[in-house]
Amino acid sequence: MIFMQESQLIEEIHNCKRCESIGGRKYVLLEGKKTPLDFGVSLKQFKIIFVVESPPVSGVYFWNLESKSRVRKRLLNQLVKAGLMKNQSLEEFKEEYYCTDAVKCPFQENKNQNANPPMKALENCRRFILREIQYCEPKIVCTLGKTPLKAFLKVKRFRLEDFAGKIVEESYLREDAKNLRCQFFSSWFPTPRAGIPENDKVQNMKILKDILKK
Ligand SMILES: [Zn+2]
Repeated sequence: MIFMQESQLIEEIHNCKRCESIGGRKYVLLEGKKTPLDFGVSLKQFKIIFVVESPPVSGVYFWNLESKSRVRKRLLNQLVKAGLMKNQSLEEFKEEYYCTDAVKCPFQENKNQNANPPMKALENCRRFILREIQYCEPKIVCTLGKTPLKAFLKVKRFRLEDFAGKIVEESYLREDAKNLRCQFFSSWFPTPRAGIPENDKVQNMKILKDILKK
């Protein structure tokens, strides 16, 4: 494995301009802090890497404790309920888990509303997320929501309900994802969306806990 310096990765992410033409990059450049590494998270071995969509356009962010991130609040709550954590604490979370974005550019619909990143942005950013996973050697990569799962699947069209709560079968994975030698598990986005009951999300985290024990 090629040794990767965190500072090198962070610099590459900040300097990437591939999404500029599709409206992603300018916000990152304006606001700066948009990756876990910007908030002093060190890449090391993690048991689980949670992958969400893309950083919000506002200063609200999972790793930014100065902001009230609904994703952080919900995810930590679900992990506690599932028995994967004792307390809803980011300090405890980062001992064994990591949470990062499939797309590093925030996409904006209007002033405060986030937009789904286009497929092109997922392709542009795959090289970053693959390296993060490669470096952290997690046992499981858990995608939260449909967009992050797209980054690893061969199929372009699918229904999240067909994948949620399960390990992704190898035959569905793209070659470079398969080569990472970890298991991919799919679940729902942690905040209320599309009427998925909270309990289903907790249930999936319990399944994740069982897989981790094996
Ligand atoms: Zn991008």
